[in-house]
Amino acid sequence: MTKYIFVTGGVVSSLGKGIIAASLGRLFRARDYSVIIQKFDPYINIDPGTMSPFQHGEVFVTDDGAETDLDLGHYERFTDTCFGQVNNVTSGKIYQEVINKERRGDYLGATVQVIPHITNEIKTKIVAATKQFKPDFHIIEIGGTIGDIESLPFIEAIRQFKSEVGIGNAISVHCTLLPYLPTSGELKTKPSQHSVNVLRSYGIQPELLVCRTSKPIPKTEREKLALFCSVPKDAVVECRDMKTIYEVPLALENQGMCSVVLKMLNTEERTPDLTSWENLIKRIKNPERTLKVGIAGKYTKLSDAYISVVESLKHAGYANSAAIEIKWINSEECVDYSSCKSMLADVDAVVVPGGFGVRGIEGKLNVIRYARENNLPFLGLCLGMQCAVIEYARNVAGLKGANSKEFDENPTHPVIDIMLEQKNVKGYGGTMRLGAYDCKLKEDSKAANAYGSLVISERHRHRYEVNNEYIDTITKAGLVFSGMSPDGMLAEIVELPKLDWFVACQFHPEFKSRPDRPHPLFNGLIEAAIKQQGKL
Ligand code: GLN
Repeated sequence: MTKYIFVTGGVVSSLGKGIIAASLGRLFRARDYSVIIQKFDPYINIDPGTMSPFQHGEVFVTDDGAETDLDLGHYERFTDTCFGQVNNVTSGKIYQEVINKERRGDYLGATVQVIPHITNEIKTKIVAATKQFKPDFHIIEIGGTIGDIESLPFIEAIRQFKSEVGIGNAISVHCTLLPYLPTSGELKTKPSQHSVNVLRSYGIQPELLVCRTSKPIPKTEREKLALFCSVPKDAVVECRDMKTIYEVPLALENQGMCSVVLKMLNTEERTPDLTSWENLIKRIKNPERTLKVGIAGKYTKLSDAYISVVESLKHAGYANSAAIEIKWINSEECVDYSSCKSMLADVDAVVVPGGFGVRGIEGKLNVIRYARENNLPFLGLCLGMQCAVIEYARNVAGLKGANSKEFDENPTHPVIDIMLEQKNVKGYGGTMRLGAYDCKLKEDSKAANAYGSLVISERHRHRYEVNNEYIDTITKAGLVFSGMSPDGMLAEIVELPKLDWFVACQFHPEFKSRPDRPHPLFNGLIEAAIKQQGKL
């Protein structure tokens, strides 16, 4: 039978509950147990697909085409498992389904209420995910902070669920913050006590506390927390600020967190195998070199907007013993070519990531032109590939005025056009070309050599594509279309074979990179940058 772990947060938001849930997931995997992680987000949007990356960070895309919260990225990266639609549920989705049922008459005239209709729907979503994956452990993270009005139905659903499955089959892990007061030199436990009290007032007694802290928790404070929050002493887990998030699983393991959880869930302890993870941390902590990589986008004020891109660059760095320093380049500041040049003068490689809308585009085109003309290792992602095609069309293939129809309704040369299947799409949210599709690679291309395979599957999220009418002209001018959809109709990868690394793809490779298994395209970029460093 699947065992359940509910993860809530208290005191403040941004505690890193997602990393804690994902780290516990890694500890189950290290014991060869299967695990899934599901995120419940209390906001009313159906999914984060329509939310601004400025507010909510990156939209993570799963193989089955769900537009999800960025925590799903952490879950996949830490557990090395692919999740899907069922793993991210919002209040909006729950309410939409309940209202649809009401309109269909499914409730047979009953008054539709938060309890039991909304809470039942939430429980149905938990069970649906369990049924789909049949995991040994099912971790459920509730977004938001205890005490928020909007998360109440989720908390009530957990309370019911826990008592329905019974003691020994489900536990709650509550994550809190221990603030440090420099004036008295103390870590304070009171906010955590209050937060647990609020949780209890909803009928949930947490079995475990994970405390975020900047200092080690003294024994007396640990005892105090155990006493006031009614948890065993070994169930007070310290989660100190780490150099890298990938250290968190080891820190939790060192305190025996997973063993305590297994005992509480009446499950057999197994010897964990964390060797490869430990080796990863060793590599992270002992880099042989540093590389500065530019990311030229428009959401540079909020690094969460490109979190999977940043993580993928780091993963490729880990594999090559390189520490990656990110230089955020606001593409709007690259519209003038000479400022673009000085912006790129000190980077070892540059990435132009995905995005929407015309703002910052001319700057991105300049960044790509500079990379092309100066053999600066370059990786373009989705919009970044579309820009690479526009730049090549304009500046090399002689197609003056080449543009995407996303930015100009009637360009002289619409080298990027809306996809046929997207032409009549009206609504927003879940309507783009989403999820995993196969792609065929050209033999001996940079892409094929990097992947070591001629057929790959990658995740997508776009409405526009390369206009096939221009492929011949652009190919003749030297840009190689090295990846195409299996029917040959959709351009997936372009590259310049003569340069060290000038590769751009229509898909989002950043969603499939793993800390201990970097994505081939990011790895290619970093290897090229290192090769060039060696030349200097
Ligand atoms: N805006 C472009 C499109 O819709 C690129 C999307 C992206 O970068 N995810 O095709």
